[in-house]
Formats: sequence, structure tokens, C-alpha cells
Amino acid sequence: MTMGSACASCGSEGLQTVAVIEDLPVHVGVLWSTPEAAKACAKGRMQLEFCPTCGLLANTAFDPDLLDYTLEYDNSLHASAIFREFESGLIEDLVTRHELTDKRIVEIGGGAGRLLDMLASAGNNHGIGFDPSIGEDRTSADGLVSLRAEFFTNSTELDGFDLLCCRQVLEHVPDLHGFLDPISATMKANPNAVAYFDVPNTSMLLSDLSVWDLIYEHCYYFLEESLRSLMLSVGLAPDRIWPSFDGQFLSLEASAAASGSAGSTSRPTTVSDELAAAVNAFAGHLDQRRAEWTNRLADARASGKRIAIWGAGARAVSFLSMLGVTDEVAYLVDANERKQGTFMAGSGHAILPPARLAEDPVDIVIIVNGIYEEEIGGLLQDMDVDSTLVVA
Ligand SMILES: [Zn+2]
Repeated sequence: MTMGSACASCGSEGLQTVAVIEDLPVHVGVLWSTPEAAKACAKGRMQLEFCPTCGLLANTAFDPDLLDYTLEYDNSLHASAIFREFESGLIEDLVTRHELTDKRIVEIGGGAGRLLDMLASAGNNHGIGFDPSIGEDRTSADGLVSLRAEFFTNSTELDGFDLLCCRQVLEHVPDLHGFLDPISATMKANPNAVAYFDVPNTSMLLSDLSVWDLIYEHCYYFLEESLRSLMLSVGLAPDRIWPSFDGQFLSLEASAAASGSAGSTSRPTTVSDELAAAVNAFAGHLDQRRAEWTNRLADARASGKRIAIWGAGARAVSFLSMLGVTDEVAYLVDANERKQGTFMAGSGHAILPPARLAEDPVDIVIIVNGIYEEEIGGLLQDMDVDSTLVVA
């Protein structure tokens, strides 16, 4: 079952096709234990469509039935110092601006409760998390954080709260209104509470042509305009919206909208000309980037150069899949120990510890996310590895 032809946010028809990508591995964080299993992983089709009314970009061929979150999984970014810095900055900002001490915090889709634990210890706050993927209910040793292995729905009962967090979730949820309506209802029941959301920032994809951000697990790609419009459509007032994590995320704070203020009159009827033009240009850019990298990898192979990729995350899966990479790349390395010794979804490349680069030298190290260039450049120097570092 796929999502159909009307916009999942505003309901408009007349979506415009931006790009079609075949055979994307549906999971980017599954830890495959053999190359054969990695190559045979489930793959899906992306039909990226743009809503000229509200600006939503959606994979309308997204099929949630292909996803299996019971597979052994690791999407964590915590191995990166720069991500941990963002995370602690976010917590300090939320705690300071919203005076979060001895308060109650709800998190939806927060997995094992890392954010709640950090918010709890930052100000003796009480947290309650909802995420069916954790398997069973649990409570932290200090009793401050309790996690429930269930979805947050209209029948979930809450005693009241001050902050509701929902990080990196909306881009995965096919039924946006079904997911957000219970959140909107609970915000209306707690009119002084603030809701904090963040999602990957698609304006990077359009402006920096970071085409490797197209991954199957994300059925939506949000821009400021479309995120704001979505909030209004479910009766939440988007009070503040800003780029975070060096522009890679879009953060938003919302509150319960005063009744009547969220009507269709306050929503745009078309996106800006600038945005429409950027989206239209993107399809051509995508083809150019694929052609450019296909040629660069072929040239490297022809001249006998060995290549490794540093970072076995989502973007690397897309890079390898969208270019159909095989032995042009020798192996990948990743600082996340759980990934070491496993194999990349789709391509089947081995994922090894970064120290491998010193033992089994390559000519070129590719990184697929420029934000880590300085961090990884420093690590290569520390290991006395003189491979050329290239950002894809
Ligand atoms: Zn729309």
C-alpha cells in the first residue's frame, strides 16, 4: 500500500513529480551481519512529489509495509562529538528559555529516552516517553523518567505537562494528521505547554544539493513553509521556527492555537515562486550529481586509486545505492562500534573501525556529510593517514 495522490498535509491534488529513484534500501540503520544479507535487503522506490500549495515534498510511493523495525537497528548519531554538542546545546536552550526545573516533559518517538534522561538531570524534571519500539515499559533508576512502549493516541491519558518533544519523527510518519491530531488535542488541554519538534532541514537538500539525504525511511522532506503550514493545519500555532545543527535540522516550537486562528485563511494557497523554482531545479541537479560522481569513481578506478568512505550512515547508503557502487569503493569505516564488522545495506561493503585506514591505506577518503570534514580531517591526521579527504 502506498500513500496516494493527494498531499498528506493540505489535501491538495496536482502534486508535481520531482525525482524517481529505484531500489533504495528501505532501512539505512540495519546492522547486516553478512554481505549477502546486506545486498539482499528490502528495497523500495522513491517517487518524490512536490505540493505547490503547501510546499510538502513527499515520497508518494512510500510503502510502510516494507519497513521492519524489529531488525537489529542503529541510527544513533551519538558517536559524533559535533552531534553531542548540538544535543547538549538544545537541552540548555530548552531548559533556560522555558525555565524547566521541577517540570513535566513528554516525549513522543524518543526511543530509549536519551533526551528525557538529559532533560531530567538538567533540572530535576519528570519525563514520560511514548515509543512502541522500546519493547517494554521501563522507569529510570532515579524514578524521574518513565517510558511506555506504546503509541501516543487520543486515548492516552496525561496528568499535564510543560514541554512536549518530538524529535526526528515527523519525516517517518505516513499519516501526518493521524499522528499530530492527538498531539494537538493534548496541547489544547495544556494551553501553557510548548511543543518542540525537529526534522531534517530540506532547504539544505535544495540549496547545497545534498542529494544523498534522500532516504527511503523518510517519506517527507520538510521546508520552513511546509512545516509551518502542517502545524497550522492541525490547529497548532508555530511560534518559532529556526535552523539548527548547523542548518541540517529545522526546529520548531508550537503552542495550542487560539480557536479560530488556524483556519484555512491563515494558510498559504501557493508556495513562494522562489521555492517552486528551487524544487524544479532540484531534479536536474540530482541527475548532475549522480553523473558527476559516477564519473569520478570510474576515473579513480581507471587510475588504480583505492577509495574508502568514512561514515556508514544514511547518506552513505544513498550514495552507494544511487550510484550503484560496487568495487570502486574498497570499504567503509565508522566510529560507531556497533556498526563495525557489519555490512552496508544494498552494496554489501564491509564497515570497519577507522584504524583500518592506517593498516590498509587508500588514496581517497570520501565523506558524505561536509559537517564532519574538520572532525574527520583531524582524526586522519592523528592516525598519520595522508589519504585525500573529499566531501561528496
Ligand atoms: Zn500540500
